[in-house]
Amino acid sequence: MNLLLRYLVLALLLFPLSCKSPESINLEVLESEPPARNIIFLIGDGMGISQITAGMYSHKKPLNIEDFKVIGLHKPYAANDLITDSAAGATAFATGHKTNKSVLGLDAEGNVVPNIFEQAKAREYALGLLTTSSIVHATPAGFFAHVPLRSQYEDIAEQLADSKVDFFMGGGMRYFNQREKDGKNLINDMEGKGYNIYNAYDEELYSITPDFSRGFGYFTARNDPPKSLQGRKYLPPATRIGTRFLQKRSSRGFIFMVEGAQIDWAGHANEQDYMIAEMLDFDEAVGEALAFAKRNKETLVIVTADHETGGYAIQPGSRRDSLIAGFTCEDHTASLVPVFAYGPRADLFRGIYENTAIYDKMILALGWGELEAETEE
Ligand SMILES: [Zn+2]
Repeated sequence: MNLLLRYLVLALLLFPLSCKSPESINLEVLESEPPARNIIFLIGDGMGISQITAGMYSHKKPLNIEDFKVIGLHKPYAANDLITDSAAGATAFATGHKTNKSVLGLDAEGNVVPNIFEQAKAREYALGLLTTSSIVHATPAGFFAHVPLRSQYEDIAEQLADSKVDFFMGGGMRYFNQREKDGKNLINDMEGKGYNIYNAYDEELYSITPDFSRGFGYFTARNDPPKSLQGRKYLPPATRIGTRFLQKRSSRGFIFMVEGAQIDWAGHANEQDYMIAEMLDFDEAVGEALAFAKRNKETLVIVTADHETGGYAIQPGSRRDSLIAGFTCEDHTASLVPVFAYGPRADLFRGIYENTAIYDKMILALGWGELEAETEE
């Protein structure tokens, strides 16, 4: 079959129920480059262009983000509101569906929609989640949970325990072992189901020798992890540790979502120093992901945000070493959000598109469907 025609058919096969037009997909990329084996998907929550700019001017060296050559923009709005939140944002990335604010893993009509982690698990990929928020917070939860309200933390914890995610790290341990709803100890349950679960009170991250035959969970806090300004340092090293773990865990490939959650919290608080510190911590994690991808050559790295937070801008009178902050609100804004991509089929991420297109592009980058199409021929 003619290649172009084949990919057109493929695009229709992959997105049969949506009105996503195949012409928005850069078909040449699919022909000229083999699929990615792995994806490291880094989300700087609340990270708009101005947040990146402030990080850049405040840093003595270029940011790791400045290494990317492929850059796009996505439209972050939710189904029911021009201003989105992290729940609708993560659902768009993980499922390809726009949904309402506060909703995780359901479409705007309330139907459960499959996510890329479930689809990858069915193909025997290894899956990882790493965040500087609690692990049941909206952004990580978008990759495994299906609940109408993001605040259902104890329900989300139960869904993580059932999710078969291979590696996870973040705060929120109390939703697993100090549950108000049912008094269950989900940590014991998970250990029974093949996980080794650790926490920062008992074990230093570096002292652990991971057992690749079991799942790996590490709680960094009972509630929310501290700020990087208060000494939190785990995001960059855990990006490296998690990537290695997932690579060893499955020869098929892996998907690893890494979140710098507190860029958003600093935006809500209108605190520039807090925001810049979180931005630079996240950029270090990006550096770890890029270093792995440059050695590995089969890994696609995507960096983006779910939305901008704070309506932040650098004000007149600023100098590189003393930025004057202006915030227009204590909420999220509707601005276009930057997308950076590196690795196999990164070119798919050029252009301006819906946030849901990031899901479609990841599926195409992984080459899902192409194998099936070849077998049919
Ligand atoms: Zn927020």
